[in-house]
Parts: sequence; C-alpha cells; structure tokens
Amino acid sequence: MCVLRDCSVCECPESEFPEPFKKPFHGLSADDLTCQEGKPQATVDRTLDNKVFRGWIEVDNPWTYDDETDNAEMTYVNLQLNPERYTGYAGPSARRIWEAIYAENCPKDPSGEFCQEKRVLYKLISGLHSSISIHIASDYLLDEANNLWGENLGLLYDRVLRHPERVRNLYFTFLFVLRAVTKAADYLEQAEYNTGNMEEDLKTQSLVRQLVYNPQLQIACPLPFDEAKLWQGESGPELKQQIQQQFRNISALMDCVGCEKCRLWGKLQVLGLGTALKILFSVDNDNLTNQQLQLHRNEVIALANLLNRLSESVKFVHEKGPYVERIMEK
Ligand code: FAD
Repeated sequence: MCVLRDCSVCECPESEFPEPFKKPFHGLSADDLTCQEGKPQATVDRTLDNKVFRGWIEVDNPWTYDDETDNAEMTYVNLQLNPERYTGYAGPSARRIWEAIYAENCPKDPSGEFCQEKRVLYKLISGLHSSISIHIASDYLLDEANNLWGENLGLLYDRVLRHPERVRNLYFTFLFVLRAVTKAADYLEQAEYNTGNMEEDLKTQSLVRQLVYNPQLQIACPLPFDEAKLWQGESGPELKQQIQQQFRNISALMDCVGCEKCRLWGKLQVLGLGTALKILFSVDNDNLTNQQLQLHRNEVIALANLLNRLSESVKFVHEKGPYVERIMEK
C-alpha cells in the first residue's frame, strides 16, 4: 500500500496465532512474539470478554454496513486491555511514517505558507501527534527489568511542552473533535448502542447523553470550532477534494505502522479524525438529522475514543505542564 521501506505489515490470520498469543501478554516470552516489529509491549492482547458481542450479528443496526459484520478477516480488540502507551516503537521506521504524513500531506505552497484549510489538516495531525507523545509520556516503561511503568515527564517536556505550537495544536484538535461530537449530538444520542450486554448498553447511552448535551459545555464553549469559515471562495470545492485525498493518504499510511499496538491506535484515531471531518464538512446544516448523516458503527467508536484520548492528553498537560516547565526551565 505504500512505497516506504520497512513497510511490510506482517498480518497473521487469527487461526495462525499460537494459543498463548490470544491470552493476556503476561508470561509470554519474547520468542512467542513472532510476526511483530519492536518490543513485546507493542503486541495486541486479543483476549475478549465474549459477553460483549453476544447478539451482535443478529442485530440490524442502522449505522452498520455489511463490511462490519463478522468475517474471517475481522478481529475484535478490547481497547481497555490495550491502552495507548509506550511500546518501544521508535527509530527510522517510526520517524519515516511521521515524515511521510507531514511531507506528503501538508505541502507548503511556494511562498512557504499553508492556506488556511491546509493548516487545519496540519494542525489536526500535529495535535494527534502531540497526544500520542503525551500518552507515551504518561504511561512509560521506566524499568524494563522490573516491568515498572510510570510517568516520564522529561519526555513530556522534550516532545511536547517545549514546543508551544504542539500544545496549541493539541488544543485545536481537541476542540475540532469536540465540535464534531456536539454537532452530531442528536445522531449520537439516537444511535443504537447494542452489544448484547444490556447493563453496559444503558450506561453507554446515558454517558453519551451526558457528553453531547452537557449544559456546562454549551455555556463555556458554545462553538469550539467554526467550520463554516472553511471551503469558501471559488476554489473551495476543489480544495476540499484535494484535502480529502490527502486525508485518505494519511489513513493508508497508518497501515504501514510497524508496531501492532501503535497501528491499532493510529488507525482508530485517524478514523476518528476522518469521522469528525465527515460530520463537519459533509453537510452544512448546524443541526444534523439522521437522514443527512450516516455513520458506521466503527466510526462512532473511533470518534468517541479519539475524544477520550485527546481530552486525557489535555488534562495531563493541564495538570503537569506548569510543574514540568518550572523544573525544566530552571
Ligand atoms: P517522533 O515523535 O517520531 O517525531 C518525529 C519528528 O516529528 C520530530 O523530530 C519532530 O520534528 C516532529 N514532531 C514531533 N511531534 C510533533 C508535533 N506534535 N507536531 C509537529 N511535528 C512534530 N510509540 C509508542 O511508544 N506508543 C504508541 O502508541 C505509538 N503510536 C504511534 C502511532 C503512529 C501512527 C506512529 C507513526 C508512531 C507511533 N509511535 C508510538 C512512535 C512514536 O510516535 C515516536 O515516533 C517514537 O516514540 C520516536 O519518537 P521521536 O522522539 O523520534 O520523535
């Protein structure tokens, strides 16, 4: 799918996974982790609570499509067992992916400037990049021999805090996604959250309602991002198409991420960004009706998880930032 070296993704069909591989990672020796790039902590734990998807295929969910029904190529992943955190994925391979994302998708014009719409794409990616770095810093393998995990505030400073524009881009991406979620409030509230686990489903519905109709949010931040200002002018539609193509390239690049857990979270969050773009730019209306907007089940999952990741990042920066900056800048 892509021209980068080191890009081959070693996908194993589920039938080929050794039994221990399907169990939680604890106790696996490094030798068991064939078909992986990088460190053991980069592998995905495929253990699932089998209650969670009970009844899933029978349910005719209006926002799922055939490609989302169970098939041999699909695996379910429990995200709670696979937190986004340090995986050891680094070096030329990881750097090349980021370089490709920035260089191929956010080109500057001859004057060295991005137009506003392209700046939006750049800021979204940079904000996501900051968020990924923040999650690495907040859940880092401090001592490999003793499997000790904790915060790496030096890394937080080096990769994010000392570059104020990266912090600004994180806030921008957060507000952008928040705006998409609030714009699609009615749709998200009416969507069918049906996994077969009634208790969990009711809790999910109630949490979604609290999120999308949060009165405090509506007072504090009524319009987190004003999408109406974009794609105006003569070249608007053409520019929009071009940026859509660039965003699709970014999505395709995610398949080249060589660490399985990074790929999982990379794909999920880029799908979340794509969903936010779809909500904000596929229809002009402020109040989306269910006819105007059709989301796949995975798009809603990705959107909600992306908002969670970004808000956790904002919270971490907000809580730790002033302290870390004081220490580091002494
Ligand atoms: P990198 O983060 O690789 O950055 C490369 C260059 O990009 C920097 O030198 C800088 O010039 C520029 N840059 C950095 N941050 C920004 C920003 N916010 N905005 C604009 N430019 C910036 N590793 C994990 O441990 N866990 C993960 O879950 C994980 N997920 C990943 C997901 C994806 C999609 C990718 C491509 C990589 C992921 N990685 C993950 C690897 C991680 O992002 C880093 O690449 C790695 O830790 C090496 O970091 P680095 O210091 O070399 O700089």
